[in-house]
Amino acid sequence: MAASPTLDLALALIGRPSITPDDGGCQQLLSQRLAAHGFRIEWMNVAGVTNLWARYGDQAPLLCFAGHTDVVPPGKLTDWHSDPFSPEIRDGLLYGRGAADMKSSLAAMVVAAESFLAQHPKPAGSLAFLLTSDEEGAAINGTRWVMEQLNARGERIDYCVVGEPSSRERLGDQIKQGRRGSLNARLRVIGKQGHVAYPHLADNPIHRVAPTLARLCAEVWDQGSEAFPPTSLQISNLQAGVGAENVIPGELTAQFNLRFAPQDIERLKQRVQALFEQNGLEYQLEWTLSGEPFFTAEGALIAATREAIRTVVGYEPLLSTDGGTSDGRFIAPTGAEVIELGPLNATIHKVNEAVPVADLEPLTAIYAQILERILQP
Ligand SMILES: [Zn+2]
Repeated sequence: MAASPTLDLALALIGRPSITPDDGGCQQLLSQRLAAHGFRIEWMNVAGVTNLWARYGDQAPLLCFAGHTDVVPPGKLTDWHSDPFSPEIRDGLLYGRGAADMKSSLAAMVVAAESFLAQHPKPAGSLAFLLTSDEEGAAINGTRWVMEQLNARGERIDYCVVGEPSSRERLGDQIKQGRRGSLNARLRVIGKQGHVAYPHLADNPIHRVAPTLARLCAEVWDQGSEAFPPTSLQISNLQAGVGAENVIPGELTAQFNLRFAPQDIERLKQRVQALFEQNGLEYQLEWTLSGEPFFTAEGALIAATREAIRTVVGYEPLLSTDGGTSDGRFIAPTGAEVIELGPLNATIHKVNEAVPVADLEPLTAIYAQILERILQP
């Protein structure tokens, strides 16, 4: 029925329900396709997470297509106009959970690799796929784990294209060259509970910390750069009080998050801490780094990608670092040039997730063009 190999494969992937960390047999299907074209298949499954490392060739440079087969839950089924796991085409759009994030990119990458290798069975380097079923979840036993294994045995990725949906209004209009980091803080301010009529016998943690929170919100952390917006801090949770009108609370808890460009993270923490040190607060601060930042400067991969996009769709992509975190953060620290390039992101994680069918062939062609520019013998 479908006239395009990428559409065929995307349909097969979307039809396999794979809510994190379940892979639903997606990687099995992809590994069969890759093995048939000469890729060495290596499973790196751990703790219920399915991970595939498939490599063609031994020479450097190594270009890796990376991505995830897991999807987020569909949400309210009655809000979907068709079954999220029975892909359907309506009015030129392919509907289904994972259509945009990111089963269409995986299909396009595999078809691009097949057609490239059919033309160049001896590429000038190697080609690999790094697939995981743990990207939308904890992301501990997925790409991070595979990268640890590869690093331990000295297998090095030079260029990596992550298939995250990066496009905004038109296919290929934006590529991500990095992501901001994400740092979470849990604050606890200790006071002394008491009666509101006897404040001298209590110590109100709300009053104590209010000026510091105001300073925290007003602080200018940096000016940003050409590639990154300024560091931002948002307080996301604030709790104190027992619900009664006449009780001064004994403690206050809060949570806040910083989004930041690559920098010395310890220094950033110290700057936050310094604000709390100022007025004799009794407090505890617990930090969790939920995402490392990364940045890929303009080099061979971005140049090849710009040309590929220009050749296929005829316009120039915008380079961006916005959005949440991605698995690129685990690949970039090894020195690889990492970008994210994929279909339109307007419907990701929403009900009725969809991707224009007409974008599947050009997306495949863009990936194939990147291979031509990096690995053509
Ligand atoms: Zn994704």
